Amino acid sequence: MKILLATKNRDKVTEIRQALSGLDIDLISAADRDDLPEVEEDADTLEGNAIKKAQALFEITGLPSMADDTGLEVDALDGAPGVYSSRYSGLNASYADNVTKLLREMADVPDAQRAAQFRTVIAFVDEDGVTTVEGVCKGVITPSARGEGGFGYDPVFFYPPAGKTFAEMTIVAKNEISHRGTAIRKMAALLQARLAGI
Ligand code: IMP
Repeated sequence: MKILLATKNRDKVTEIRQALSGLDIDLISAADRDDLPEVEEDADTLEGNAIKKAQALFEITGLPSMADDTGLEVDALDGAPGVYSSRYSGLNASYADNVTKLLREMADVPDAQRAAQFRTVIAFVDEDGVTTVEGVCKGVITPSARGEGGFGYDPVFFYPPAGKTFAEMTIVAKNEISHRGTAIRKMAALLQARLAGI
């Protein structure tokens, strides 16, 4: 089964490729295709953005298309940055800019109130329509960045069961428990059933 991954974010492509590596799926990434547009993420929900991206590339290419949208939802910030996670400190913000802003906003928040969760929605669009799945991972925002791995907010997202930030975990260990790993496994189960004609 050939699937187009509707994202140009190579960090996400790496994680999703790793998570789907056991399946009989030929994953093509929009990051490797110069002819495909970057779809604007202007919906006000993760679901809306994921569906918009997958739908747009399905309409352009005719290939079954999959897209993810992820937000970091921080309790002490009433769920922010949420759907605006990539633009938290402004349009074209770098990962470091966003992390710096988050740590600044959280500077006076006590340890007991630093809970947060990553939430990923993955949308799959083909000729049969739209399917979405969700994955959530709960953690705590650290007072400063820790670790060299991962991407985005990983250096400030502490995962208590591992005693590490996501940036201190390997990609395999992160995928086993992460928001995106959980969502992709749900999607993989649906795709596997479809491949088996169930
Ligand atoms: P997007 O809108 O799904 O591309 O993601 C929003 C922002 O959330 C990205 O720019 C990243 O900074 C961040 N992000 C997404 N997934 C992760 C993750 O797995 N770990 C850390 N940060 C992430």
